This record gives sequence, C-alpha cells and structure tokens, in this order.
Amino acid sequence: MGRAALASCGGLILAGCAASDCEPKVRGGSPTQAQAVSSASEELLERLKPHLNVCVRKIRLTDKPLPNETMGGYRGKTIWLEVPIWPIVVYHEYCHAIQRQNDLSVQGSVWDSDVGDPPTEVFALACEQALISSFLLGDRCPDDPDGVDALFETRELFAYPNDEIAVGRSVEFIPTAIIADDGMGPIEIAVASNGIVVVADGLRVELDPMTGAPVNTTDAEVSNGYSAITSNADVYFLQFLPIRGPNTLRRIWSGDEGLAGMGCLEEQERLFSWADLAWSAFRKNDSITVGWWRVE
Ligand SMILES: [Zn+2]
Repeated sequence: MGRAALASCGGLILAGCAASDCEPKVRGGSPTQAQAVSSASEELLERLKPHLNVCVRKIRLTDKPLPNETMGGYRGKTIWLEVPIWPIVVYHEYCHAIQRQNDLSVQGSVWDSDVGDPPTEVFALACEQALISSFLLGDRCPDDPDGVDALFETRELFAYPNDEIAVGRSVEFIPTAIIADDGMGPIEIAVASNGIVVVADGLRVELDPMTGAPVNTTDAEVSNGYSAITSNADVYFLQFLPIRGPNTLRRIWSGDEGLAGMGCLEEQERLFSWADLAWSAFRKNDSITVGWWRVE
C-alpha cells in the first residue's frame, strides 16, 4: 500500500494522524523512493500498539550526506533520510519519534550501551528490529546475553508480527541417532550420499543419520554447519544485531510462505542437509545427538 493508504488514517493508523498536519509529507527523492518510505512507514505504524501515538509531519529525502555519517535523523517531527532508502533506517527514525512522543522511559540497565550510545539510541536500535526480526527471536534462550533484553522490551511495543513471517508454525526435532562422546569441543559434519561423518574431539563416526546404522562413506563433503538447504526450505542460524555483549543467534526456517523462528540453539550445534531434510547435530548429556527438523 502506498501514500494514499498511509494518509488515510484508517484502521490502526494512530490518533495523531487524524490531524492533517500529521500526515507525513514525503519531499525529495524520486517517486519510487518516496513510495518506499511511505510503505515502510505504513508497515511500522500498522503494527504499533494502538495506545501509542506518533506524529511525523515531514519526511525529507536527501542525496547529500547527513551529519555524523548517519543515514537518517529525527528532529521536530521531521525525519531526514539519506537516499537510497533502507527500510530499517525508516523504522529506526520512526522509533525515535515513538519514544519521544510517547515519553517512553529509557531509564534502566536494559538501555545501557557498551559503545557509549545514549539510551535513546539503544532504544531505537532495538526498536528498529522489533518489526520483523524480533518475532523470529521467539522466547528467551538460556545463553542469551543481557543485551537481548532491549529487543524483547521493544517487541512489546508492537502487537502484530509482520505477515511475511509465518508465526505459529509447528516445529519438531526428531532425534534419530545418539553418539556417546563426553568431549566439549566443536562438532564437524561431512555429508555423503549414503550417510554422514561426525567428527568431534578424537571421535570419527560414519553413520546413516536416519537409522544410526554404521556405513562406509566415499564422497563426504564437509558442511558449513550453519545452514541446511532443502528443496522446500532453508534452515539457518540468524544473527541478531547485538545491542550489548555477544551476538544472539536463533535457528530460522525460510520457505516460500515466509520465515519462522525455530527456537534456541543447542550446545555446539551444527546444521546440515541430508536426504532433502534439514538436520542438526549437537552436544547433550555426554553425547552427540543427531536428528532432523519437521516444520509444518
Ligand atoms: Zn538513532
């Protein structure tokens, strides 16, 4: 939907929008760029919880560099964007507007930065991810760093997931083989036509992953370990923008219908594809568990 829809103030568009001076007027840039900005703005506002108000009067597109090597800015109900337009930058500047115009508190350790950003900037960095990627985060994971709290906080702002993301998909891990190994080191998987090779610490096991039966492989190729490509979906590890501390990873399913979160990673988990299925191998209870993912 385009500018007309954005200016219509229908449905979920917010109270402030009812005033004509709060219908954002996009100036500068090409019609295509203006359209991209309007679409991104609308997408974000439609998912904002109704009790929050935001009023942006003007969105100005410029091909001149903005100060401080930023790609956008927000001041006085005006958003400045450097072209070309990145939707995430549109979201970011709107997030500044949302925070300021609703007096949302950014006090507390959630909004601490380890690179000296002010809390309002930490808020906007987390908030810009709330629209799409935060829904793939799912629930908290045991190894999540503190910095992920900001993502959960800003996700609470938005009531509805992006409809490109297939939420509510059922995900089930089917374990098929357990290999005793009390090591702690990384796991490497090589994939052959008739089985896989699992290498870890001093261990090397060749097996049919579906039955666990031993095999002799001749054509094994080492998997990258972080993606499994199948004919109907890709499963991979998605890295979230770290707000603070180490990176946050989740397992993600990506098919024609969209994206779905698949939950927390296991210890030393590796992904690989075999027999057109997505598989994981990981450490658990002094052993390496091998199994595949059923996503429906
Ligand atoms: Zn900012």
